[in-house]
Amino acid sequence: LFLIINLSNHARQLTRVMLVQVALPVPLYRVFDYSVSTDASALPTPVLPEIGSRVEVSFGRQTLIGIVIAHINEADSSVPINKLKPINQCLDDAPILDELMLTLASWLARYYHYPLGDVLSVMLPTLIRQGKPLDLLITHWRILANVNDDDFHANANKQKQQFNMLKLHGKHGASEEVLLLEGMQRSFLTTLEDKGLIERYIQPKTAPKPVSLAKMPLDLNNEQKIAVDAILEAHSAGRYSGFLLNGITGSGKTEVYLQAMQAVLEAGQQVLILVPEIGLTPQTRARFASRFAAQIVLLHSGMSNTYRMQGWQDCRTGHAQIIIGTRSAVLYPFANLGLIIVDEAHDASYKQQDTLRYHAADVALYRGLQYRIPVVLGTATPTLEHLKLVHDGKLIECQLRTRAGSAKLATMQLIDARLQPTHQQPQDDGARYDTGLTDKLIGAIRQTLEAGDQVLIFLNRRGYAPVLLCEACGWQADCPRCDAHLTVHYSNQAHYHSYLKCHHCDWQAYIPAVCPDCGSQNLDAKGMGTTRLSENLHAIFANPQTSKNLYPIIQIDRDTTRRKDSWEKIYQQINQGKPAILVGTQMVAKGHHFPNVTLVCLPNADRGFLSADFRSPEHTAQLMIQVAGRAGRGDKVGHVLIQTLQPDNPLLLKLVKDGYLPFAQELLQERKMMGLPPYSHAALIRCEGKTLAATTQALKDAISLLPAAHNLAVLGPIDAPMSKKNSRYHSQLLLLAKDRNQLHHVLNQWWQPVLALPNVKYLKLTLDIDPVGW
Ligand code: ADP
Ligand code: ZN
Repeated sequence: LFLIINLSNHARQLTRVMLVQVALPVPLYRVFDYSVSTDASALPTPVLPEIGSRVEVSFGRQTLIGIVIAHINEADSSVPINKLKPINQCLDDAPILDELMLTLASWLARYYHYPLGDVLSVMLPTLIRQGKPLDLLITHWRILANVNDDDFHANANKQKQQFNMLKLHGKHGASEEVLLLEGMQRSFLTTLEDKGLIERYIQPKTAPKPVSLAKMPLDLNNEQKIAVDAILEAHSAGRYSGFLLNGITGSGKTEVYLQAMQAVLEAGQQVLILVPEIGLTPQTRARFASRFAAQIVLLHSGMSNTYRMQGWQDCRTGHAQIIIGTRSAVLYPFANLGLIIVDEAHDASYKQQDTLRYHAADVALYRGLQYRIPVVLGTATPTLEHLKLVHDGKLIECQLRTRAGSAKLATMQLIDARLQPTHQQPQDDGARYDTGLTDKLIGAIRQTLEAGDQVLIFLNRRGYAPVLLCEACGWQADCPRCDAHLTVHYSNQAHYHSYLKCHHCDWQAYIPAVCPDCGSQNLDAKGMGTTRLSENLHAIFANPQTSKNLYPIIQIDRDTTRRKDSWEKIYQQINQGKPAILVGTQMVAKGHHFPNVTLVCLPNADRGFLSADFRSPEHTAQLMIQVAGRAGRGDKVGHVLIQTLQPDNPLLLKLVKDGYLPFAQELLQERKMMGLPPYSHAALIRCEGKTLAATTQALKDAISLLPAAHNLAVLGPIDAPMSKKNSRYHSQLLLLAKDRNQLHHVLNQWWQPVLALPNVKYLKLTLDIDPVGW
């Protein structure tokens, strides 16, 4: 007994308590102190977890995983030492986040006024957040070395195509994830494994080979060369520079990216390329893979957690050389980043619309500053914010004013739909229905098809029709949960597949046979969605004798591209190059290359010029120019026809006559006069609750907490544009400040007390810094 007492006394002398500050994924604007007992007699000896590593801790009744962000002394903790809990365990031997990542996290927390622990959980892939070990390895599949085609076909003749798919990847095969994405069936892999034809293995990670050129670069034209030189000058000087690569559609921005990348990759550094859409990643990958023999990693939300975690790790270790990703890739760690490219930098999908509402282009500029490297924002339709940054000397503008190679920029022309009635198509019963297309537009479409080219018709509304209306009493099918009409989904070809659907909350209903209000059978679908337009086009362009299609009509929207491989199939069909009509929503506006499209039609895209949102003209023009840019990207000249009911609209005329940049400069002048962003800095506060009375009152209470001399413009509270959504009500408040620091200064004092207001418990309050829409 004496011995034991003596020993434990001895141990107590050696025990020194150390403290760590941990950021935890809880919605509180603070970090938490925990103790680490370094009891020298315990085995193994506990170590102080390093800053940037993960620890597991008890938090109330929960067990949470957090990131150590500081080591502190007993005296620095506000909690008495005997009240502090010890950490449960340390999950990493070494930091998983370096200093730059931690600085990024705290910058994001400050700039977006979001709790640090929550910022870190947005930044980390799911499996890392769950505390999984870093090097989860990914299964690869390959054909066994001794198996030849004959063995294979004798065994599995039916799956020849799948076998060839595997064969294409060569002797190392490919990861299961990639194979499944390509359309391989998992059951096929296990069957062949059982038959002894293929095997699974874990690919060991070796240091990547230096990047080499797979194909020779093109000869740059003058403007391209100026841009590449400017980017590389900044790169070799080891200096941050933000570039706006302002090049019209088809001007060869990608070639500028590629040649800037080449020098960076040859210097052994990584390149991050952000793209707006998942749909674009395979295509983008192909373009980069055909130029460089390099380790290319794709990052987007369509991939499994394991794959994303592996990608995260590859970026962090430097294994990935070219990283192509959507928005969230800008938050990844990089061993040795040399260049960031933000393609289609105007795209609204770079702004995250929930939790941490960051803008990936803004974060990209910040990271460029961190790593002292160039950041290139490429677009044909720069945002007003980016043009203002050019004015202020904060971005360097490089212009590409002509199309590269032999292609010419398409001509734009207005069709006055007030003078020209839209075409009325006769039906079997002798009645006629409105096709929504003028004869002039139809004539141009026919001419293009007969010349052997493709036509793209842009309509930003999927489904059959946006409204179901009772002609007798005026009843309309509305969503019971939202301030919105239900969209009619219906097809003449497939009656059984008819329903009403809310595009905001996905509520679905049957199409009623009679009006639920007055019992009339006179229910009519009003307006036009992509399905209806496609059917109208079928009717117009069918062979009158056989009523068979003369030309394929390819509908491209979220309904037709839902399946994993559907985009690929649509692409293949379009790229065969035969005459065809493509009908698409804004999905087609994003960077796609359809070389045989020579005519682009916009039957009603100009409506956005009339919207109440001050950003609407800018966004409408960007969309129109991007869609128009799909015309004439091959050798032939393209045309763009805009059918409009407002041919005198000054904004529309300016855009069509002078082009996007003069149009944008005019909008900038307007914003300046009105003191709107980018000539002021905005914070949008949204409040969601069970009634409008409650949400409005909460925002009024919030206003009363504003510091006395705040100097901000306070607009609201007002009902949000769609104030009822998913059975919840929304009000909003806009704060505008002349000066960004002023805005942050007020928010620093004000936002946390607002969140602590008693009524806020029953409501959801969110803060959006630099909002891009209402
Ligand atoms: P953007 O991204 O600006 O819309 P792309 O990069 O897709 O334009 O380029 C359009 C086309 O021009 C591509 O087919 C590309 O290969 C070609 N191209 C680009 N630069 C050159 C060049 N310097 N000489 C010849 N062709 C070029
Ligand atoms: Zn709804």
